[in-house]
Amino acid sequence: MGQGMFVPGHRGPARVEGEAACCIFHGGRVFIARDGSGRPAIPRIDIAAHGMSLEGAHYLGMLDDLPCYGLSLPHDTRLPQQLELLGLRALILEGDELPAAVAGQAFQILEWARTHRHCGACGAPTLPHAADRALECPDCRLVFYPRIAPVMMALVHRDGELLLTRKPGYAPGRYTVVAGFVEAGESLEQCLAREVKEEVGVDIRNPRYFGSQPWPFPNSLVMAFSAEWAAGEVVPDPGELEDARWFPLDALPDLPETVHISRQLIDDTLARLKDA
Ligand SMILES: [Zn+2]
Repeated sequence: MGQGMFVPGHRGPARVEGEAACCIFHGGRVFIARDGSGRPAIPRIDIAAHGMSLEGAHYLGMLDDLPCYGLSLPHDTRLPQQLELLGLRALILEGDELPAAVAGQAFQILEWARTHRHCGACGAPTLPHAADRALECPDCRLVFYPRIAPVMMALVHRDGELLLTRKPGYAPGRYTVVAGFVEAGESLEQCLAREVKEEVGVDIRNPRYFGSQPWPFPNSLVMAFSAEWAAGEVVPDPGELEDARWFPLDALPDLPETVHISRQLIDDTLARLKDA
């Protein structure tokens, strides 16, 4: 039955008759359905038949032909028994992009709503904004949008080699690229240069955009670049890294799973450098 298309939106239908696609979270995990071949799907649930209410649910958009909502499990709800409660990270690692993306978005919206129930300036309870995906303070009119934290990711390369790093706690032998949060007032280019300099001590040039990936733990948007090494010896930041070193293109270490944009960036850069 695989789910085919998701069109995001923030103004849902006034009433839901019958089924809705529901990203239901419970204790940090999400209920999913499985199709005949075991692929995960966002469950289609007959709201009324299960005594559920969409009060407090967040409309996310249309998933195929159904309105789609994110909600936390109300305590007294009976769910269809065939649903499976799965960690969001485990769902993402299964590699089925659509249900993972929808559940990831639902998780971020629910977390944002849960942590913005009161105005940060005057403390009054917030209310949904009339037009946007936002919460608004009815007293001082401050508006709170979902927070997104930009993360810059860099794969540094030079003639025949990639610069990879590992942090304590990674799987044995696993290495990946440099990454870090963008700071207030910083451009993406400045962040890229600073992060690489801080983490591994080298200067870069010619950053090249590869792609981006939302990462809902809790609210990151990762922007991935490759960049050429320009100068400097590799010196891993001892406060953050266990190791950082150059690897020849034909002798790379264990790398992250292919669902991670870090791995896609490495694979793409590798193919490009081998062709050159
Ligand atoms: Zn206020």
